[in-house]
Amino acid sequence: MSRPAVQERGDGTGRRPRVGVFGGSFDPLHNGHLAAASWAADSLELDSVLMVLAPDPWQKRDRVLAPVDIRWEMLVKGCVANPVLVPSATEIERDGPTYTIDTLEVLGGSQDLVLIIGADAARRIDTWHRSEDVLRCAEIAVVDRAGELPNIEERGWLGVELPRIDISSTLIRDRAARGLSVTGLVPAAVESIMRATGTYREPPEPAD
Ligand code: ATP
Ligand code: MG
Repeated sequence: MSRPAVQERGDGTGRRPRVGVFGGSFDPLHNGHLAAASWAADSLELDSVLMVLAPDPWQKRDRVLAPVDIRWEMLVKGCVANPVLVPSATEIERDGPTYTIDTLEVLGGSQDLVLIIGADAARRIDTWHRSEDVLRCAEIAVVDRAGELPNIEERGWLGVELPRIDISSTLIRDRAARGLSVTGLVPAAVESIMRATGTYREPPEPAD
């Protein structure tokens, strides 16, 4: 697996870089992820957004995810168009379960972190492992996924307004499994990898 180096786009003034952290299982990466991360970068004036692949998220133990090397390749090739979006393999390289707090503790230090999450994830954040430490290590920015931002002001969180993009990886997997097109829902490179590897395709019914 080739992993690009994390770029820090400091401005030469000694200012600490302000870096977004956008995590997901990216199974697969889709245009909703890309729009959310790039709109957050613009509206919050971030130097870059680390797209952190969760190889084995504890919230998704109920189903088998696509192989991590294929999800990683889709993430890397799908982010090429916008150099502000930087794929991060930090959770792949770490053994054991992947918790956001471990990632924030690794990535913090020399840069200020803004954790970018969808409104659905924001509603569950208090159930996360060491959630109080998560809130201490990073500012929280909620991207409005479903037309309603949860109580961000009273919690001191940032909000990122985004046109509603009703795409999920679940939708992509379902369409691919039925042999339907995903053009326009994922970057062209992701579509090519899905087709070439047969990822998400249901095996054909055995003939009688
Ligand atoms: P799945 O359907 O498998 O749960 P997903 O599309 O929800 O996949 P995740 O990897 O679960 O993608 O989500 C990663 C992050 O991306 C979460 O913070 C989620 O809220 C956000 N997100 C996913 N889809 C969108 C979208 N269409 N618009 C804005 N944010 C999104
Ligand atoms: Mg999800």
